[in-house]
Amino acid sequence: MVSRHSMAGKLKEQLFCDILICGAGLAGLSLVYRALKSGKWNDQQIILIDPSEKVENDRTWSFWKEEHLEFDELIFKSWDKLFVFSNNGERIPLNSGSYTYNSIRSLDFYRHVLAFLSLKSNVRFIKEEVIGLHSEPSVCIAKTARYHIQSSYAYNSIFKKPLVTTKHQYFLQHFKGVVIRSSELSMQLNDGYLMDYRTPQTHGTTFFYTLPLSAETCFVEYTLFSKSLLIAEAYDEAIKNYIRDVLKLSTYEVEDTEFGVIPMTDFVFPRYEGRIVNIGTIGGDTRGATGYTFTNVQKTISAILAAWTPGKLTFPLKPTMHWKHRLYDSILLNVLDGQEYAGHRLFCDLFRNTAAHHVFRFLDAETSLLGDMHIILSLRPLPFLRGLGKVVKAKLFG
Ligand SMILES: Cc1cc2nc3c(=O)[nH]c(=O)nc-3n(C[C@H](O)[C@H](O)[C@H](O)COP(=O)(O)OP(=O)(O)OC[C@H]3O[C@@H](n4cnc5c(N)ncnc54)[C@H](O)[C@@H]3O)c2cc1C
Repeated sequence: MVSRHSMAGKLKEQLFCDILICGAGLAGLSLVYRALKSGKWNDQQIILIDPSEKVENDRTWSFWKEEHLEFDELIFKSWDKLFVFSNNGERIPLNSGSYTYNSIRSLDFYRHVLAFLSLKSNVRFIKEEVIGLHSEPSVCIAKTARYHIQSSYAYNSIFKKPLVTTKHQYFLQHFKGVVIRSSELSMQLNDGYLMDYRTPQTHGTTFFYTLPLSAETCFVEYTLFSKSLLIAEAYDEAIKNYIRDVLKLSTYEVEDTEFGVIPMTDFVFPRYEGRIVNIGTIGGDTRGATGYTFTNVQKTISAILAAWTPGKLTFPLKPTMHWKHRLYDSILLNVLDGQEYAGHRLFCDLFRNTAAHHVFRFLDAETSLLGDMHIILSLRPLPFLRGLGKVVKAKLFG
């Protein structure tokens, strides 16, 4: 990257580079790390822009996996016995086959990637906010308070809520998680409660996501799929009740908290805007039906790197998800919206009637039509037919 001229006053300093990474979170950092590890970007001048220092453990990424996945070395805990609990307390053991459920702490990821990047002389990290980004026919232009940056390509993961119309469903997956410590904890270390519906369903599909971390610590997350957030105290109240009434703990300490909101939508996020490639949630890597993103981000990056040709802008990326899976997500979101088939019943039917390894493969958009039938036949058909009707109507008439 070359600084052409730096001027006092209002003019911005001009920087030039080959590749600009806007947003250094999961997608931005995964991309630059994997591209440099593979040797593909060793001769590229790269600028990363993000106002965040990335020094906080702001989230934990969990995902199921069967085989080796990128960043496996950062997994701090895996679970191989998974359960779902229905609203009336039925315990549904999941047949996960050869899948495990795994977690990576974001701080471990940020430290690992940033330490690697700090050794690379062709990478510069600018800690500023991008206030403008656009593509011109032969370059991309980004602006920060201080810089005017010109690059050949840009990879953007800065999330902006899209302008959704009545054609689309836009649910929020909102959650508050706490790490608690208690000497009374009695969960088996390999057990993970993927969805524990033993909580009131007043605000939409609501469950706890409960993962033991050690003999005395446990991650407990109150999660909702709905169209609006709750007041802050409501999350704390629900967590307190669950710990007391379901986990049956009388004394515990809260060691850590996280709060998050993930879009669950059938809006199709554009992958490209001229020479800008959108990655991560803004690039459509978040699965509409679940909010899971980690695995899709890695798949997208694999496709970007496989197609990488120096000096040539290629548009090779097929959508991470086939239209068929996007349609399924759209129908599911319409079913949840219709409230005829409550989310807690729907997800319990799914996991009661289908082996979880089929569900995981389906959610990873890796099933054939035959595989999809396992899923479809495990659910009540009428609400889904009505959901399909709503999708068709929305697409045709808006
Ligand atoms: C608390 C939480 C927990 C999650 N847990 C899981 C999980 O368990 N499994 C899973 O698969 N998914 C999970 N997700 C969803 C998803 O994986 C994450 O949101 C993931 O971090 C998305 O990656 P991303 O790169 O798109 O966005 P981010 O990782 O959020 O990165 C975007 C980056 O852009 C930066 N930025 C924002 N505005 C600007 C600007 N103007 N200029 C420059 N930079 C900017 C931000 O500082 C950030 O670093 C979770 C999300 C949250 C919020």
